[in-house]
Amino acid sequence: MPIYQNILVAIDFSDAGHFVAQKAQSLAIKFNARLNLIHVLDNIPMPDTPYGTVIPLHENTTYDLLEIERNKFLTTADRLEIDRKNCWLIWGEPQQEITQLAAREHIDLIVVGSHGRHGLSMLMGSTAKGVIYHAECDVLTVHLRDNQ
Ligand code: AMP
Repeated sequence: MPIYQNILVAIDFSDAGHFVAQKAQSLAIKFNARLNLIHVLDNIPMPDTPYGTVIPLHENTTYDLLEIERNKFLTTADRLEIDRKNCWLIWGEPQQEITQLAAREHIDLIVVGSHGRHGLSMLMGSTAKGVIYHAECDVLTVHLRDNQ
């Protein structure tokens, strides 16, 4: 049986996000694993929405900022040829939602970038560190340099 069968890649739409996603896709192909995609909405206001709310992907909304994020997410999902049922757009705090989804979906490998939108100011991104600390499964951090 392959080592990994159910991989989750976390994307933040930073410039290097496509590089992280491509690595995860290559691993999924190599292991013949299911590939899941998550983006956590933490950069737009979502009043009256509790953390952990899963945004439906098949319904348009009248909230312009959410539509922009939803379309970016769906474009990435289509580019990676990920089945919509394995795509998760969730309102909340990234590290918490990534690790909670991973536990719920019996993920065996989480793939994150070593850095993201929060930049290279720290040795390793805060989300990556949090995911490594809280995940119940293996975590692969894709090493990103400042030109990626
Ligand atoms: P950062 O903590 O911003 O340096 O991000 C490190 C990595 O965590 C990124 O490369 C992504 O893989 C992941 N990540 C950060 N923010 C999010 C988010 N809002 N949704 C999903 N993944 C994220």
